[in-house]
Amino acid sequence: VFSPVEMAPRDPILGLNEAYNADTRASKVNLGVGVYYDENGKVPLLRAVEAAEQARVAEHAPRAYLPIEGLAAYDQAVQKLLFGQDSPLLTANRLITAQSLGGTGALKLGADFLYRQTGKRLVAISNPSWENHRALFEAAGYEVVEYPYYHPATNGLDLDGMLKSIEALPEGSVVLLHACCHNPTGVDLSLTDWAKVIDVVQRRNHVPFLDIAYQGFGENLQDDAMAVRLFAESGLAFLVASSFSKSFSLYGERVGALTLVTANSEETAPVLSQLKRVIRTNYSNPPTHGAQVVAKVLTNPELYSLWEQELAEMRVRIKAMRQALVEKLQAAGVTQDMSFIQRQRGMFSYSGLTKIQVERLASEFGIYAVGSGRICVAALNQSNIEHVANAVATVLQE
Ligand code: PMP
Repeated sequence: VFSPVEMAPRDPILGLNEAYNADTRASKVNLGVGVYYDENGKVPLLRAVEAAEQARVAEHAPRAYLPIEGLAAYDQAVQKLLFGQDSPLLTANRLITAQSLGGTGALKLGADFLYRQTGKRLVAISNPSWENHRALFEAAGYEVVEYPYYHPATNGLDLDGMLKSIEALPEGSVVLLHACCHNPTGVDLSLTDWAKVIDVVQRRNHVPFLDIAYQGFGENLQDDAMAVRLFAESGLAFLVASSFSKSFSLYGERVGALTLVTANSEETAPVLSQLKRVIRTNYSNPPTHGAQVVAKVLTNPELYSLWEQELAEMRVRIKAMRQALVEKLQAAGVTQDMSFIQRQRGMFSYSGLTKIQVERLASEFGIYAVGSGRICVAALNQSNIEHVANAVATVLQE
């Protein structure tokens, strides 16, 4: 039965990790990762998470099944975090939130739902995008096309290209948008840029699907949700895939959510019933632990402010590393303007390094980055940044 099965293509990032692990140099650095490391190079366990977990253990709660759409307290807390405490949507009966297996699970639920229930077959993603976007939508049966996003000449946004391309898509296409801290480029839209995107999406009857995996890593929890809130104000129906993997440092617990914003309250009950079918026939219902922890933190004022503070610490450290990298590159003799690294937001930076330069970083210096030049700024720290800056300066200059 398995004899026709051929090897799947190698995952480029996993391959990078293998090469990094096999490297025996003490000064090696892995900038290819997609997780936040603290100053000591560790994935942090947040104090707010630890406190919520201790409270949960003390409860000795039985492990019954959760509802199909997940823990109600969690789903409601997700809505408040995305749309704001005072959003009229919270009481308009136009929101459906289902707890999901991370942000990835939310994207897949949304993709399956739109495919089965609305007949969508075409999705547009940014060029470039998180590499799993294409694979996930293709696996769900879609044709995946790209809209221009990154402008190499300015290391910034190609807004014109993006708007024109979204305009030219067949009417009613699904348009996947990174709400903040774009992966892999770190390049985000301004509020006025978002207004233009909303305008074209609305005129073309497209279905916006917002992916927000880094809320709190850009500016703060409110500002990073501005795209979601602008779409909410527009009155459009749309989808949001959100994730706590990064903001709670709960990667392995798989805590995310899919939120559907319906056009009016009459749509809500049928949409929820069909979404529940998608979940039920896939994994029945979600796991308890991560959602319990996140719900506890989000609904307890003391834990919430502790979490906000810890999230700010992560964000501030990333920004400090961006600034230090720009300064150290300059000190190491790089004459190009690298200040774009400081304008980019979130965990990643499109460094502008070519594939050949990335290969040299690995072979000569034991510094591993993605072939596209994406580096994880959150993997830099005081102990490795000098080595990284000097190595990047060397490959940039020769
Ligand atoms: N969307 C984007 C843009 C991401 O970068 C990621 C994670 N790397 C995800 C979704 C998926 O997040 P999760 O790990 O919660 O599934």
